[in-house]
Amino acid sequence: MALDEFSRKISPSPSVPPGRAPFAKATAGRTDSEVSTAPCSHPDEHLTSLFSATDYITGDQFEVAHCALCKLSVTTPQPATDQIASYYPSGYYGPLRDRRFPGIVEKLQQALYGWRVRQIESVAGPAKGRVLDVGCGRGLLLKEFRRRGWQVQGTELSEHSARYPREVLDLPVEIGSLETIRFPANHFDVITLWHVLEHVSDPQALLTEANRILKPGGVLLVSVPNFGGCEARLFRDKWFHLDVPRHVTHLTKRMLEQALRGNGFKDRRWSGTTLEYEETLMRQGFVFQNPNAARNCGCGSSFMA
Ligand SMILES: [Zn+2]
Repeated sequence: MALDEFSRKISPSPSVPPGRAPFAKATAGRTDSEVSTAPCSHPDEHLTSLFSATDYITGDQFEVAHCALCKLSVTTPQPATDQIASYYPSGYYGPLRDRRFPGIVEKLQQALYGWRVRQIESVAGPAKGRVLDVGCGRGLLLKEFRRRGWQVQGTELSEHSARYPREVLDLPVEIGSLETIRFPANHFDVITLWHVLEHVSDPQALLTEANRILKPGGVLLVSVPNFGGCEARLFRDKWFHLDVPRHVTHLTKRMLEQALRGNGFKDRRWSGTTLEYEETLMRQGFVFQNPNAARNCGCGSSFMA
C-alpha cells in the first residue's frame, strides 16, 4: 500500500494538518489552517532581529531573526549553496585514516552509540530491519547498528565527507540531500536525523520525505539543539550550539513537536539531554514513530531517562 493511502488514514490535528504548518509559508488572507506548503523565504519585511552573532570560524557577521510568516527563528543572511562549504573547516570529519579523537574518547563514544541503538530498538521492537542515518558523518552509529544485525544506509552531502564511512568502515553512503536521493517509499524501519534539521533551510520538506520513505510503524529519531532552552536564552549569541551560519534554522521543542506531528509522527520518548553534549545540557532528542502502525502505541509521551 502506498504511503499516500496510509496518509489519508491519519486523523489530522486540527491545528497542524499533515504536510502543512508550522514551517510552511502563510499566504496573506488565509487562516493558519490554510497555509501553503511552499517553503518560507523569510522575506526581510517579516523578519524581526533577535540578536547579532559572529561565525567563530570566519568572523563573518549574521543576524538571528524571527520570521513572522513561518514562526521560525532563522540565520540571516543564509549562505548560498555554493558558499556554504567555505563555512565548514577543513578536517571537519578528521583525517581519513586517523582517529578524530583520542582512543579512550572514541571507545566511550562507541559505547554511547551502542546505548543509543538499544534505545531505538526498545521502541522499534526486536526485529532488525533497515536503518538510514541521514548525515551519517564518520558512520560510527551505523557501524554499531550493523554490528547488531541491522541493514545500514547512510547519506552525506559530499564525496569528501563520505570517504571515511565508505573507505574505512565499508558502509554504503549515498551522496545528496534526502529529497534529491529519493529512496523507495516505505523502505526503512528506522531513520535517524541526528543534528540535521538545524542545518537545512526547509526542515518541513526533509520531514515529509522522511515520512515517505519510512515504513508504517517505523521509528524516527530526531535530535536538535534546543533554541528555546535555558542555555540558549542565557547565552544568546555566545551559545556554543548557535553555530551560525552552519545552523540556518533554530528550533524550539514546541516547533519540533508541531513539525513532527504535522508530518504524521507520534512522539514516543523525549529527552532534554544528549550524553556526548552534556557539557552544556542543551540538546533535545526525540524518538518518534510513524502512527500508521500495525502496532499503534498511542499518543502519550514517555520520557527517556
Ligand atoms: Zn519564514
